[in-house]
Amino acid sequence: MKERLRLTLLAATLACVALPLTSEEIPMQTASTPATATASPSWMNASTSRLQDELVAKYGTQQRERLERGLHQITEFWRADDGDAATFEDFVRTNFAGNQATLDTMFNRFQSLLEQLDGHMHEINRAFNQQSDLDLGPMLPFDETFAGYDPSAHVLDDFFNNKLAFTVLLNFPLTTLDERLKNGPNWTRRQWAETRLAQRFDKRIPADVNLAIAQAAGASGQYISQYNIWMYHLTDFQGQRLFPPKMRLLSHWNLRDEIKANYSDGQGGLPKQRMIQQVMERIVTQTIPQVVINNPAVDWNPFTNEVKAAAAKDSDATTNSPITNAPEPDTRYAVLLRDFNAAKKADPYSPTAPTLIDRRFQEDREIPEARLKAMLEQVLGSPLVAQTAKLIQSRLGRPLEPFDIWYNGFRPGSKYTEAQLDEMVAKKYPTAEAYQKDIPNLLIKLGFSPDRAQYVANNIIVDPARGSGHAMGSQMRSEKAHLRTRVEKTGMNYKGFNIAVHEMGHNVEQTFSLNDNDYTLLQGVPNTAFTEALAFVFQGHDLELLGLPAPDVKSQAEKTLNDFWSTYEIAGVALVDMGVWHWMYDHPQATPKQLDQATVQISKDIWNRYYAPVFHKNDVVLLGIYSHMIDSFLYLPDYPIGHMIAFQIEEQMKKAGSIGPEFERMARMGRITPDLWMERATGRPVGPEALLDATQRALAP
Ligand SMILES: [Zn+2]
Repeated sequence: MKERLRLTLLAATLACVALPLTSEEIPMQTASTPATATASPSWMNASTSRLQDELVAKYGTQQRERLERGLHQITEFWRADDGDAATFEDFVRTNFAGNQATLDTMFNRFQSLLEQLDGHMHEINRAFNQQSDLDLGPMLPFDETFAGYDPSAHVLDDFFNNKLAFTVLLNFPLTTLDERLKNGPNWTRRQWAETRLAQRFDKRIPADVNLAIAQAAGASGQYISQYNIWMYHLTDFQGQRLFPPKMRLLSHWNLRDEIKANYSDGQGGLPKQRMIQQVMERIVTQTIPQVVINNPAVDWNPFTNEVKAAAAKDSDATTNSPITNAPEPDTRYAVLLRDFNAAKKADPYSPTAPTLIDRRFQEDREIPEARLKAMLEQVLGSPLVAQTAKLIQSRLGRPLEPFDIWYNGFRPGSKYTEAQLDEMVAKKYPTAEAYQKDIPNLLIKLGFSPDRAQYVANNIIVDPARGSGHAMGSQMRSEKAHLRTRVEKTGMNYKGFNIAVHEMGHNVEQTFSLNDNDYTLLQGVPNTAFTEALAFVFQGHDLELLGLPAPDVKSQAEKTLNDFWSTYEIAGVALVDMGVWHWMYDHPQATPKQLDQATVQISKDIWNRYYAPVFHKNDVVLLGIYSHMIDSFLYLPDYPIGHMIAFQIEEQMKKAGSIGPEFERMARMGRITPDLWMERATGRPVGPEALLDATQRALAP
């Protein structure tokens, strides 16, 4: 489902989710000193006012505003080791574009050279990942090293060192999200492209800060990836084991998915679901005994919190730790605090978005936090929640329990069994080449004209994937997008086809948004929720592409209700994530214990406000269980927004009647702000109305 490697120079923005360079534990360094980070050299003020007078005299008063802005922008990033006053003044005299013709040339050349840089870096990345991404036989140890290498890692540093970044900052405007939202609708495409150009250089984070962030991310990722619960060793009040031997579930994903799976286990499922909820609550509150984490040598009753040496074995593991129920010592929150302290070190180097919260909302999502919060609250407070809850309750035949936030009984029915679909697909697509050849036909079925279908198909290369599949766009117009799909020896199966259609949606978007964009600096979509929403449009029509009838109204209604209930669940989780990051910024000296207490309180408050009225139970802490909250640096709000955007785009496609031309129109807008993109695409800004309207229709008798 993933779209891979949208590689850009925006390393600094991405630094907060950078891959771990090393998983080695390092002690937390003391906070860096913001004062030195932003302090300008003492000669700076005198130099800038001298340059201002001199260059206005030279180029005319109409350049004054641009010049003042450019000087201000470079002084924010210039450090003593970039050069003395003479170097600075010489740099400005030489590189300020004092007339429109020079500025145009500069803009065009930066745009085309950066396309070359991004494009070729991406090409190297694709080649270096070839062995690990594609079904090309065994991997050797060095292949992993190639795959882990990023040739663009130091480009941003290089551009500040050789001063190309300063050339951009001297001549093109840095903007805040407020300015982009307020003025963006009236900007020309060129103004948008200039804005994106400047944004590539809107922070200059020192290597040691990036390293600290990467190390914290690595350590939290590792903490999460080893947080397993051995289910056979959970016992109930009667000492019974409810789960099978060897079942090892990773928190929180596998635990949650086991709750979902147990809905089909009739009466047997309920005690298991209750037990998993109890385990989750112990993790959030950190009352879980340390010794039971990832340890099959201990039996644990999560209700009484009693632990014993394992009375039955399902592994060879033994434990040397004393078997007591001493709780995990707030490690969960110590890990999160380390993420916070590392992320905070970047603050002084990011003048237009000086907190991680700002960088997430104003740069990555480009939706103001207050607006996003209001959208979440609109879903959470909707009367449709109670109506959907009533329907779930009647299907379950019992009152709701808190874990029912993960109810998964809304299922689109199908006329065909998976086996029948597998057979159809395998016959049609015995090889990856067969799929490649059929792309123009598939696109014509989706409403593209034969010309456009052929044009896009010529820009997509199908490769056999090692994993389940992904889409890898290109970063320059002379390259093609790659569709990676899994084809078994017996041919493609239905699941593989369904994924291939989704990935093809990514590839088509990537092609239009790069090759048919008037400015390559604007290639892409506003954020990842948009690219996923566009891919889901394709995926939702996979049956028709096989020549089968589209899902009927009832089946569509089930899908809508499933999406609505998931959005309701994840909206609360997102509010907890946001609340916790605010609390950390408000309490920068907090201990892990204090963060534990605060997270528990925030989880309860949001539960009591939006869930207790439906579930009739107060003070539940389940919303705090997501692992992303610990290792993903405020990523969770992307999920509910993704659902809303998907519905908006889907509704617009239905209104337009035909997908092809509408898809192309949307994809060509490129990377402007989400609201502006959505207004131009659908007539309304980003919001939950389309989701709520569809849910209302799905609930109608
Ligand atoms: Zn995807």
